[in-house]
Amino acid sequence: MIKKPSSEFVIDGVEIHRGQTVRINIDMGSIYDFTDVKMPVEVIRGQEDGPTLFVSSTIHGDEINGIEIIKRLLASRALKKICGTLIVIPIVNIFGFNDRTRYLPDRRDLNRCFPGSKNGSLTSQLAYKFMQEIALKSDFGIDLHTGAFHRCNHPQIRANIYDKFTLDLAKAFGAPVIIGSNLRDGSLREAVSQANIPMILYEVGEALRFDESGIEIGVNGILNVMREIGMIKSAKLTKSKKEVFVARSSSWVRAPRSGIHIVRQKLGKLVKKGETLGEISNPFGDHKILVKAHQSGKIIGISMLPLANKGDALFHIASLNAELEISGEAQAIEDLSNNDPVNSRYPKHEF
Ligand SMILES: [Zn+2]
Repeated sequence: MIKKPSSEFVIDGVEIHRGQTVRINIDMGSIYDFTDVKMPVEVIRGQEDGPTLFVSSTIHGDEINGIEIIKRLLASRALKKICGTLIVIPIVNIFGFNDRTRYLPDRRDLNRCFPGSKNGSLTSQLAYKFMQEIALKSDFGIDLHTGAFHRCNHPQIRANIYDKFTLDLAKAFGAPVIIGSNLRDGSLREAVSQANIPMILYEVGEALRFDESGIEIGVNGILNVMREIGMIKSAKLTKSKKEVFVARSSSWVRAPRSGIHIVRQKLGKLVKKGETLGEISNPFGDHKILVKAHQSGKIIGISMLPLANKGDALFHIASLNAELEISGEAQAIEDLSNNDPVNSRYPKHEF
């Protein structure tokens, strides 16, 4: 359902009228020296009614690709005439971002603290405010992430692929890989799914680095989702014609011993079970041991640190599952021929 389609739309006490673009600094309390901390949010409300979509980034403070994605999204001409309301939050974890760290000052991971509580820890309060002021006022969500420190991710959507509406959003985005990943306790994805709000998560690149092609896929992906849910009225599709790889699960290949690790494969490569992915040796090049794929699939994440302890996660492989592979081109044709109103495709959401 649209939360408040034709009446007032208020975030943190600020009313946004139809046709307005408003930047709001949501109050997040203060730090030790009494300096106020604000979470900057931009709200674009179209003249016409439609769904409300939030696009959030940097829940983990060192994952910055989403900031650049949102910057470029806001420069898109397609946003000049939208139906409904777009809420963008370039930096959710403002504390961690300014310290270039994943966590908050209380050493908690924000994505394990949703839905949060008003009087909980600092992290829990931030999660609560985000849920109350942003997520629960939205009909759909896209959360932007980056690989963890020293890990690089191939562009991928993580979503509940067993929910038709969420899978449709994931397909519409147009990233080369979709992973059906489990909900983690305390994640934003779990909290919004309990509130019946379809949300997808886009992952690309490495912490504290920009990934140019992944940023482009991200910008186009958000516009594609906005088109899918009727916020942008345009027949033009910008989605990739390349194949989309949909996997039910993924798992990590771990280091068989400690040593110096050389990567022998690239992100996005399809590998067979038993294929060599890397090699580990001692600092003299002796005692070489090969790191091999434990299953067939696509490499969607690689550890960029050339040092490994036995058991360290080195290669993230999405399971190969032939019947779930779909062609991007076939999907585009299907979308163009689907002239049903958005309402009939998202019955839970009355437009
Ligand atoms: Zn993250």
